Amino acid sequence: MKIGVLALQGAFLDHKKVLERCGVEVVHVRLPEHLEEVQGIIIPGGESTTIGKLMIDFGLKGILTEKIEAGMPVFGTCAGMILLAKNIYETDQPRLGIMDITVKRNAFGRQVDSFEAMVNIPVLGNVFPAVFIRAPYIMEIEPNVSILAEFDGKIVMARQGNILACAFHPELTNDDRIHQYFISMIKEVRSYS
Ligand code: GLN
Repeated sequence: MKIGVLALQGAFLDHKKVLERCGVEVVHVRLPEHLEEVQGIIIPGGESTTIGKLMIDFGLKGILTEKIEAGMPVFGTCAGMILLAKNIYETDQPRLGIMDITVKRNAFGRQVDSFEAMVNIPVLGNVFPAVFIRAPYIMEIEPNVSILAEFDGKIVMARQGNILACAFHPELTNDDRIHQYFISMIKEVRSYS
């Protein structure tokens, strides 16, 4: 199995390390042709306005949207989640806009720029050490979206079919269970290649 990690800006190197620990081959995706060889893609954390603009500049926005709509599994973390969202509170910045959620950027307040918390994630069986860095949260979901985790009364992880998103940075811990969960989503999609 080969998984792509969008490598335009942000925390893509740490995702590569985790996926390789899980025994997966990783392709850094910077150009449309890099998408041809992967069965799933991770959109990392970073700066969502920058990644969104670069996705357009590098000709990736249209092809990525097409592939995800055709069933390719995608996992967006932090800025990656923002880029997947249909609605971003109070901004019209570029995005893929394919997940039926409304997100709010930098939503946990300026005083707490970053923090770590044990978040209960029932699909994983118990808690996960979640690192939040100027993190967004999900304000609203459509009925076709499942909530996978909440923290402090806010939705911080969700899934809509082949689309997985979380507000925190699972690549910054030694706990690989969320990446394993994403790998199992790719294995489920046998018809896609
Ligand atoms: N605050 C960033 C943004 O809005 C996201 C932060 C992150 O990815 N760690 O793009």
